[in-house]
Amino acid sequence: MDRNIDFKKLRKEAEQLAERQEKDISTLSEKETSELIHELNVHQIELKMQNDELLRFQEELEAEKQKYSDLFNHAPIGYLSLDEDHKIIRVNELMAEMLSRPKSDILDRPFTDFIHWDDKDAFYLFMVHFRNEQVNRCSQIRLNTKDDVIYVNIDASRLDKSSHNLAITDVTDLIKAQKKAQESNELKSAFLSNMSHEIRTPLNAILGFSSLLRNKNLSESSQDDYLRNIKQSGERLLRLISDIIDTSKIESNQISIIKENCNLNILIDDVIQQCSLSQRNSKAEIKSIKGLADEESHIITDCHRLTQILINLLTNALKFTKEGAITIAYEQKEDTLQFYVRDTGIGIPADQQENIFKRFSQTDQSGRNVKEGSGLGLSIVKGLLKLMEGEIWVESELGKGSCFYFSIPHNPTDTPTKNIASKTPLNKKFKALQDAVVLVVEDNEVNRFLLEAYLKDHIGKIIEAYNGQEAIELVKSHNDIDVVLMDINMPIMDGYEAVKLIKEYNSDITVIAQTGHAMEAEIQELKKSEFDDYLIKPVDEFKLLEMLKKSIDSN
Ligand code: ADP
Repeated sequence: MDRNIDFKKLRKEAEQLAERQEKDISTLSEKETSELIHELNVHQIELKMQNDELLRFQEELEAEKQKYSDLFNHAPIGYLSLDEDHKIIRVNELMAEMLSRPKSDILDRPFTDFIHWDDKDAFYLFMVHFRNEQVNRCSQIRLNTKDDVIYVNIDASRLDKSSHNLAITDVTDLIKAQKKAQESNELKSAFLSNMSHEIRTPLNAILGFSSLLRNKNLSESSQDDYLRNIKQSGERLLRLISDIIDTSKIESNQISIIKENCNLNILIDDVIQQCSLSQRNSKAEIKSIKGLADEESHIITDCHRLTQILINLLTNALKFTKEGAITIAYEQKEDTLQFYVRDTGIGIPADQQENIFKRFSQTDQSGRNVKEGSGLGLSIVKGLLKLMEGEIWVESELGKGSCFYFSIPHNPTDTPTKNIASKTPLNKKFKALQDAVVLVVEDNEVNRFLLEAYLKDHIGKIIEAYNGQEAIELVKSHNDIDVVLMDINMPIMDGYEAVKLIKEYNSDITVIAQTGHAMEAEIQELKKSEFDDYLIKPVDEFKLLEMLKKSIDSN
């Protein structure tokens, strides 16, 4: 509205009034005339002063108006003024920014045009309550911006009889964070209850079958069955623990990628062999398609992690495919290697295909054994691939099957890979150990018993110690000891101190550490220490004998 004073118009009105009141001044005396002139002068000056004052007021008003308009426009909150039909009559900069539209696209349109369809009723209801002066805040209304949706809180205030102001706060980030926290809380609870199941189930089998083994009349085949179940349950527990450790390592950035030469085609065969051995509930046939000839398939990558990724995907494929076919394949695509593991299993619902890569998430559909697995495998695979500069994605159709793709950089090499250990029968390969003397240092009775059981048919003589102190005394009193198998955590004297003293006494004795700590920091410490090599519990019988053989051969 233009508030400038129209002086011309005022002057005209004044002249008209004067005309109507005009007096005949010819009849006035000289004194009266001079008084009248004086009066007119004073009046004129007074008018001028009033006029000046009015101009000053007008300037002040303009400055205030500017201040208010600056405040409105640049306020750190969105403002809209609506008329009684909810039509937008004013909008500030931030509000236009929030809606990602120019002001001209917003003005003169009903505010409800911008409200998400499902939230319009909530807004109308709010306006009714606001007009009745019952509430002035409306929370979590969704607004459609140009190409997105945002969550806002609205505070209404009355401007005059027919219009009101809305102060709009964008709370999208807050709502997203809230939803994420709630989601991760739900996932954590699901994880914990699943964990309890995942730990108790194999433990139940281990304890149950172990007690059944005490039955003296048990047939040989039942004994074999029970032992196989105990082993499989132990392996399931171990997988779970490894998954939990890997997850925490990935989260705390403790995994480093160790690149080495490997032959991809042999690696694929190994993965298939390993998974076929543990293929229990699936009748699916596993096929492989190798994109490079054997002699071209030497690459530099982290073989251990690549194997872990493929085993994970293949194990999942077997878990969710009762019958049909599973294909593990790779091909070279420019400077990357693209792998896939395809199955003809139960498939994954489209709306859950993104989620399965998040920690603890498992799909919830009929036909799937909801209770099996920790929901960690794919998040580990994704984390490892990120470290290996690769990526993973899935294509799947419910009831038809899934195909997990991933890619890694292709770094070919001409250097042939170290030979993979051949699976020669144990008794043949470790004959040379028959003359060796091994000192087993272990405070845990069961573990010591197990190590001795592994060794007794292959080693000439086994000596036992219960802690580092005893080990040193035995080394000093037995000059024939070739290898010491040393636990790390022991009472009285731990493995680190004991190895130092043993090496000081006789540096020719091989000392191999065996540890239950598989964290990167512990491994680094072991590598820096005086141990010649290390084994991580649970100790694999084959690996143990292989390592002993290597150290005896090199002595
Ligand atoms: P889990 O230990 O539960 O298998 P993962 O992270 O490996 O954990 O997988 C998460 C979920 O993704 C699985 O529980 C399953 O619902 C789904 N999934 C993974 N692979 C497949 C597959 N090949 N076919 C169908 N569903 C799969």
